[in-house]
Amino acid sequence: QVRKIGRDCLHFFDSGMQLALEHRVELEALLRKAIPGQLQLHYQPQVDAEGRTQGAEVLVRWQDPDKGLISPGDFIPLAEQSGLILPMGQWILHSACEQLARWAHDPVSRRLSLSVNVSPKQFQQPNFVSLVADTLDASGADPARLKLEITESLLFDDLDRVTETMAQLKARGLRLSLDDFGTGFSSLAYLRSLPVDELKIDQSFVRELSPEGSNAAIVRTITTLGQSLGLDVIAEGVETESARQFLHAQGCSYYQGFYFARPMPIEELEHFLHSAS
Ligand code: C2E
Ligand code: MG
Ligand code: MG
Ligand code: MG
Repeated sequence: QVRKIGRDCLHFFDSGMQLALEHRVELEALLRKAIPGQLQLHYQPQVDAEGRTQGAEVLVRWQDPDKGLISPGDFIPLAEQSGLILPMGQWILHSACEQLARWAHDPVSRRLSLSVNVSPKQFQQPNFVSLVADTLDASGADPARLKLEITESLLFDDLDRVTETMAQLKARGLRLSLDDFGTGFSSLAYLRSLPVDELKIDQSFVRELSPEGSNAAIVRTITTLGQSLGLDVIAEGVETESARQFLHAQGCSYYQGFYFARPMPIEELEHFLHSAS
């Protein structure tokens, strides 16, 4: 078949591309129907240097009746392209706030925070700040217990606007974390002026951490940077005791990874919390 690339040309897709497109359309229709009934939230503990759980990251899963449990890597990009991330993200935020409100009555869980991933599309909504504020209000959750994880890719946008939105969110009392830190193109200059509370070292540097390797140098640099800017530093993808030790020696504040616990349903998390305390 003919396939021309160019601004004014018709595009003819080869059969492989056609198939991929059909698959995408089919998957998108399935995903649309899945919100929120087939979505599940898993929670992965975040621990401090003493190994005590300080909070958890909320991670979405899609339980399709035929396809089984689908991981976010396989549908978040699709959700972002199609705009479905907006209703999905709102449902996730709402669920996390309700969870925080329920925990407020529990002596063990009341001091925990929840970290919620926010995709750039969500963050860029003109009414994002009021959406978050209204969701917090409606649930009765303490804003100080909510942390929003945003990625560096957001910062390619209009930086002044992003900074302003962050400042407005901070004014509501919640906290902000820069997820997957180190993988984007971070200019140190803007980092200084961003109202974030935490840097989250990307797991690609943490999972394969040997004291002499280049990952170690990157981790050392990020922890030093965080400390000099007065930010918390959390490492994700901590899989081994030796990684934990190295991070600890660098003065990392919080840890998340399979070494401590995997993402799990809420019942398991509550069991995990009560058995550890
Ligand atoms: P992320 O926010 O960087 O989340 C961390 C991912 O690393 C999670 O994968 C988690 O299960 C995984 N992980 C944690 N510890 C370890 C470890 O020790 N070893 C290894 N190998 N992996 C570890 P998951 O749940 O598959 O999520 C993947 C990505 O999907 C997330 O990366 C995030 O970007 C996105 N995502 C997940 N939930 C949501 C959500 O509710 N909203 C949005 N917008 N994105 C989400
Ligand atoms: Mg995250
Ligand atoms: Mg991450
Ligand atoms: Mg990631």
